[in-house]
Amino acid sequence: MRKIFKFLTFISSLLIVTSNSLLLIGCWWDSPKTPVIKDRDYYLSMLRYNIFSSKYHDFIINYEKKIKTPASAESNKEFDDLYDNITPPFWTSFDDLQDALLNTKLGKNNCDVNWREIYNNVDLTNDQKLEIEQSQLRFYNIISNVYGKKNILHLVQKIEAVESSKRNVIASTTYNGMYNNQRMSFGKKFADSETISHQFNTGFWAADDIDVVTIHEFGHGVSFFMNLSDDKRTKINTNWNWSTTSIANLNPSHSLTTSFLGKPIDNCAIKLMIYLDKKAHIPSNDSKNWLLFPLIVVRSKYGRDYWTDKKHGGGDDDFFAEAFVQWLLTPKALRGWNWELLNGFFCDYLPTFLTKI
Ligand SMILES: [Zn+2]
Repeated sequence: MRKIFKFLTFISSLLIVTSNSLLLIGCWWDSPKTPVIKDRDYYLSMLRYNIFSSKYHDFIINYEKKIKTPASAESNKEFDDLYDNITPPFWTSFDDLQDALLNTKLGKNNCDVNWREIYNNVDLTNDQKLEIEQSQLRFYNIISNVYGKKNILHLVQKIEAVESSKRNVIASTTYNGMYNNQRMSFGKKFADSETISHQFNTGFWAADDIDVVTIHEFGHGVSFFMNLSDDKRTKINTNWNWSTTSIANLNPSHSLTTSFLGKPIDNCAIKLMIYLDKKAHIPSNDSKNWLLFPLIVVRSKYGRDYWTDKKHGGGDDDFFAEAFVQWLLTPKALRGWNWELLNGFFCDYLPTFLTKI
């Protein structure tokens, strides 16, 4: 019998509203900005979500306080030694990085990752261009240090501007389960400082940084890549140790397809949630606690929406992408215990599933 080819297409992106198309989940910038009337903690408190009854209020209050305990000196050093404390080990200038990206081949094909072209396509001042280039340089150096230079250079095969008919799309990452077909597109507002600050101040996004959207999309990129089937993955790196958890390899009874509160979980988000619960010794006798704690750790309403907002059209992968953002872009002065837990996951745990190349 002919084997059924399972065609998986993923599209994930930042921001609200969705299409109901079978293969496409997109998000659009759709609403006028509401004024910021409270501090960020107000918007982010899990006490504001009525899916958790008063039985959980003490848990929420305790952990919302505890996550603010400053991160340890060791975890700060571990992270800062990846880039902020040292001379960049891989690329010392954005020009070097851009050259490397334009000269990266996957098989016979050249990757087409031209950030300069994307930056020139939007309204950025020279200072803002410099700022986003430096942020991108930092990102690629950190990720190369943790996950391997070739892995990050090969992660995305194409970046492009959002087509003009979709003017409200901020950004998206598409993938179809092939090792060589991951692409990102960026709309006109992806680096708009007013939009970014507003989304951060209202608790919607995890960081207030000019690079927040591109790093969110890279979060999807990492997650999708980790979920390649064995044969696809080995075309890039023969040493991946992720076989039992690939989406493409899953069968319906696999433990990773079980759910939190009835929502199916099929990607890296579950790995992260379980890691956080175990590290914090959250009792597993109540599955709502096991959902609640990770939602407290990751300070992004967008990352939580999959579980908390029926209208959210993205997936649980946005939780992973926003955690990735929070790990990479939280300024040192604001790093708490929650950041330290994320640092443990992204710096120490996730890299154990691959070999740096
Ligand atoms: Zn997303």
